[in-house]
Amino acid sequence: MRVLIVSDIHANLAALEAVLRDATAAGPIEAVWNLGDCVGYGPQPGECIARLRELGALMVAGNHERAATGAISTADFNPNAAAAAAWTRDQLSGEEKSYLDALPEVAEQRVGQDPSLKAGASAAEFTLVHGTLREPIWEYLNSHEAAIGHLRLQETALGLVGHTHVPMLVVEDESSAQGCELYRLADGEAVDLTPERKIVINPGSVGQPRDRDPRASYAVYDTEQAAVTLHRVEYDIGATQALMEAAGLPRWLIERLEVGR
Ligand code: ZN
Repeated sequence: MRVLIVSDIHANLAALEAVLRDATAAGPIEAVWNLGDCVGYGPQPGECIARLRELGALMVAGNHERAATGAISTADFNPNAAAAAAWTRDQLSGEEKSYLDALPEVAEQRVGQDPSLKAGASAAEFTLVHGTLREPIWEYLNSHEAAIGHLRLQETALGLVGHTHVPMLVVEDESSAQGCELYRLADGEAVDLTPERKIVINPGSVGQPRDRDPRASYAVYDTEQAAVTLHRVEYDIGATQALMEAAGLPRWLIERLEVGR
């Protein structure tokens, strides 16, 4: 069984479609898990929500879902993000907002017992959250301190987070001074799931990568290989930029897509 793991799509339908094509070209995808921020910044929020619902995606909420429905204030957003959130709010129907408002901030997902799993059932239990378990929609898991705070609350061996827009692996390591190690994940890199240590994986961002690689980022969990592999795929950045231009979205949000930051 292969599970597609996506995050931070940010209303970039061209990027999402490229990810779906790329992931399914390698074999069937049986489930989609989305780690939040499917809207905000980009030009096609309603289309992205519809696509994810059609796929039956398991979804958790990010700060941009909450901002898009008005559930939280955008006072703490930077001016570009606040402007995009206000635009997004105007695009969404009442029904779409109700759908987003109903999304949980944390989800646990168990993937059925697989005889090939390397070490028991716990290896297939995941906790999904946008930011961290300490602050589910706000905190960036991008430091040892945040990682340890999160890991203390993570009851499953495996965690999946988004929010930073940077693909990353965190491995709990009680023998190290900082209690864990943080690694960047590159295209094609596979993480073997070993339940002896807790780990957290960030699949990067589909619709607005920020690691200076503009390609859409995603991950695939393969239960037979008991591994999660990171992938990057090119998409039609110009098409998304043209839609953003037409919508009058902030210039910096349009430009950053081509530099991946
Ligand atoms: Zn985001």
